[in-house]
Amino acid sequence: MTENLIIKFWGVRGSHPTPGGDTVYYGGNTACVEVNAGGHIVILDAGTGIIPLGRDLLARAKQTGKPVQATLLFSHLHHDHTQGFPFFAPAYNPTSRLYLFGPGAPEQALEELLARNQMPPAFPVTLRDMNAAKEIRSLSETQVINFTANTPHLGKQPTDDLSIRLMKSYAHPGGVYIYRIEWRGLSIVYATDTEGYIGTDRRLAAFAKGADLLIHDAQYAEEHYRGLNGWNATQGYGHSTPQMACELAHAAGVKQLALFHHDPTYSDVMVRQQESNAQQLFPNVFAAREGLQVILSHPTTANPPARLATQTRSLRSTVENFAEQKR
Ligand SMILES: [Zn+2]
Ligand SMILES: [Zn+2]
Repeated sequence: MTENLIIKFWGVRGSHPTPGGDTVYYGGNTACVEVNAGGHIVILDAGTGIIPLGRDLLARAKQTGKPVQATLLFSHLHHDHTQGFPFFAPAYNPTSRLYLFGPGAPEQALEELLARNQMPPAFPVTLRDMNAAKEIRSLSETQVINFTANTPHLGKQPTDDLSIRLMKSYAHPGGVYIYRIEWRGLSIVYATDTEGYIGTDRRLAAFAKGADLLIHDAQYAEEHYRGLNGWNATQGYGHSTPQMACELAHAAGVKQLALFHHDPTYSDVMVRQQESNAQQLFPNVFAAREGLQVILSHPTTANPPARLATQTRSLRSTVENFAEQKR
């Protein structure tokens, strides 16, 4: 267990939550991914997926008798990446210890932005009133997060144990942080809210090089992005197509690709269609879905090395019938 890097998707939807019968398979919560690296809990973004994650972390804490300790990384401060935080239950528990990192400058900018998000009258509980122990800091691109005894600290060079680097991308309005998490030779890259370039984003391809898992924005179907068949074009909105995600995955030579940040207007049927289109372009790709867990095994602990195992479950009938359904 401790030699595995475990990734769990708690929210995979872009823009806004989408409850309802048409989205139950892939899920309707906005961006939140949990990474468990030998007991270190790293959370990528605080969309509404962080709400059930928070309840789960408290249940685990009760079971183990250890308070919640987690590092939360914000890709950027758009609503769909922050809106779950005011409902993140461990943040109200005084025994919890939370480290929050994200974009902005100077160092206090992230705290000010988060505080502004839940200032009355917009929300009744202020950031300060959430009484977990919190350290909140904006990061610059040259900083690396390393961990000593489960506590993150900032440095300039990654260490051999758990370390996190970031790349600032300009391919999204206002910019976005892309994170690379390395754990004992295993790596994942979280690249949400980013638009592909013609010929691929070379900087991102270099940053994601050889990753075991790349989680990449794939919000729009090709025809939607291009404005064909009745869609309004979305080029320049800062999101990618599955094709762009696959191109990047090829250029970076990653082992596995997760399509992420599904468009809120897409039903399960449509997301399944995107997934199946992508499978023609990249051999090891899946559409991220709520509850899916990916286990990356350390090469020394598996013989033969089982690099990846994913939970599977059968598709619901609505998804099985996707070919007959039209938007
Ligand atoms: Zn987003
Ligand atoms: Zn965004």
